[in-house]
Amino acid sequence: MNMDRSRQLFEEACRVIPGGVNSPVRSGRAVGMTPIFVKEAAGCRLVDEDGNVYIDYVASWGPLIAGHSHPLVVEAVREAASRGTSYGIPSEMEIRMAEEVVDRVPSIEMVRMVNSGTEATMSALRLARGFTGRKKVIKFNGCYHGHGDCLLVSSGSGILTFGIPGSPGVPDEVVQHTLSLPYNDLSQVEKVLNEVGEETAAVIVEPVAANMGVVPPKPGFLEGLRRLCDRWGALLIFDEVITGFRLAPGGAQEYFGVLPDLTCLGKIIGGGLPVGAYGGRGEIMKKMAPLGNVYQAGTLSGNPLAMSAGLAMLGILKEEGVYESLEEKTAYLVQGLDQAAKAAQVPVVVNHVASLGCGFFSREPVDDFESALKSNTEAYAVFFQEMLKQGVYLAPSQFEAFFVGLAHGKDDLDRTIEAAMQALKRVRENCAF
Ligand SMILES: *Cc1c(COP(=O)(O)O)cnc(C)c1O
Repeated sequence: MNMDRSRQLFEEACRVIPGGVNSPVRSGRAVGMTPIFVKEAAGCRLVDEDGNVYIDYVASWGPLIAGHSHPLVVEAVREAASRGTSYGIPSEMEIRMAEEVVDRVPSIEMVRMVNSGTEATMSALRLARGFTGRKKVIKFNGCYHGHGDCLLVSSGSGILTFGIPGSPGVPDEVVQHTLSLPYNDLSQVEKVLNEVGEETAAVIVEPVAANMGVVPPKPGFLEGLRRLCDRWGALLIFDEVITGFRLAPGGAQEYFGVLPDLTCLGKIIGGGLPVGAYGGRGEIMKKMAPLGNVYQAGTLSGNPLAMSAGLAMLGILKEEGVYESLEEKTAYLVQGLDQAAKAAQVPVVVNHVASLGCGFFSREPVDDFESALKSNTEAYAVFFQEMLKQGVYLAPSQFEAFFVGLAHGKDDLDRTIEAAMQALKRVRENCAF
């Protein structure tokens, strides 16, 4: 495989961009490679600067559930751009977007648009603290909620991949009110709340953890969090930046039937443009300025390009049978991967929920951060490199999800499974377990 031009671009990038990338997990370090540079993408296909073509399972880390350059999204953005790229003055599209969100997401009565998932979680947390008048927040090990200071504690892939515990630049004082507990362990939450329940503003959780690989919630975990939050008067925040509009029209809260007080959205809601949102019960959302005294603002929030792209994406997801088809494809792929691993005699645990999946190179079930960390990252690196050679682009880290989308055809899935058989053979030859 020729990567000359990508390598050359990476060298150029490294001179002017730290590490050559604008977000760390793109760098390829965790899989012992330099990144490919994308020239163009359509459907489930990426083309890099050397002309190599890949079946893409990263989908821009989740937003592109309908594939790259979907004609309806591209046309919506083109049309909106011709009428102005940003106003900083209200426009009708913002209402239509809010209505779509309120219609679909069961617990949301009012919603505010922001520009990224990070902004959504930061704002939701501020709101939870403002609403309850309390300081403490409970999160879970391996859950990622963006790179905001207070939530950057034991937070999954980016940090996991590079072995940074939290981050320099975040003062201890800022995280002194953040408690991070094991995912899927309700008894720990109960114990901690018995001590600090009356000071706890919120419990924030990824309803399916998808930033330490993919770790589904154990039956009863989300229900238990709901019950404990009610008992202590803390707000339950679902970070649905990945799961929103992906697991079901109403996200994980619809899929599992557990309603949070606040929900954070991002990724799919922007159709590939930089967007986030947070919403919840009217009573809580009305605490936000200008109605209430909790402040949050944004020059480009609700801008017409992002609203158009997002509305087009949500429109595509209204088509009949979309979610069933995503689930079927993913189940097919997961079954193929399981069989390939068995045939190659490589221990792989494939977790998946709806169209989110992850294969851990491990013998043991993965149900929290600790068990995720036991997977063999060297084996993943070999697997990643071989898949790339065979034209399949996976996330360049063991601790990320693969995203199945509407643009993956059965042929693509079959080719992926075939590539995996070869790649797993290579893993068998090169790695000890
Ligand atoms: C991606 C992600 C975020 C951060 O969103 P950005 O748009 O990258 O700031 C927050 N929470 C979860 C669960 C995510 O997957």
